[in-house]
Amino acid sequence: MSPSSSKTDKYSKKRDLDSSPEPDAKKSRTRSGHSFVIQAHDASNLHYDFRLEIDGALESWAIPKGPSTDPSEKRLAIPTEPHPLEYAEFEGVIPEDEYGGGPVQVWDSGEYENLKEDDGEEVPMAKCLEDGHITVWLHGEKLTGGYALTKTGRDDNWLLVKMDDDEADARRNPVNTETESVQSGRTLDEIATEAEKED
Ligand code: MN
Repeated sequence: MSPSSSKTDKYSKKRDLDSSPEPDAKKSRTRSGHSFVIQAHDASNLHYDFRLEIDGALESWAIPKGPSTDPSEKRLAIPTEPHPLEYAEFEGVIPEDEYGGGPVQVWDSGEYENLKEDDGEEVPMAKCLEDGHITVWLHGEKLTGGYALTKTGRDDNWLLVKMDDDEADARRNPVNTETESVQSGRTLDEIATEAEKED
């Protein structure tokens, strides 16, 4: 049993492998252990699923407005179920009875570095998650630089905020201006349309 299997069991059971185009959680390949992905997902409402690889699973938050490059913008991030690592490459249309259905796009992906230190020692990501204070440096294709993900006192919600570093840019609005997949170059609409043709 891998360490992630108990966390993602619920996810595996929820999916019907025969009917879903989503990847099989059992496949595995070599990874850095510190990957992230942001998947644009047009369910009943468009949102951005931010997923950080922590100890073999993709810990996940749904961000209704998507990430910002402006440090003065606080973006609500609602924790959701951890997903298996293989889900990071999923692009396609989820059947309507699963996770709200709708097209999913790999909006950004890459590696991250854990910035959290205590007395000069790196604080393990699992501890940061438990404490509700995550700070990471993203090496994405669209997003780069420091981001803080912090649990708020109320409602178990978190906030994603761009840290004020050289990569901060209040004028960029990548969610609205960079709408193509970093994996396939397709927009969410194109992903949805192509899936309809295949049916
Ligand atoms: Mn979603």
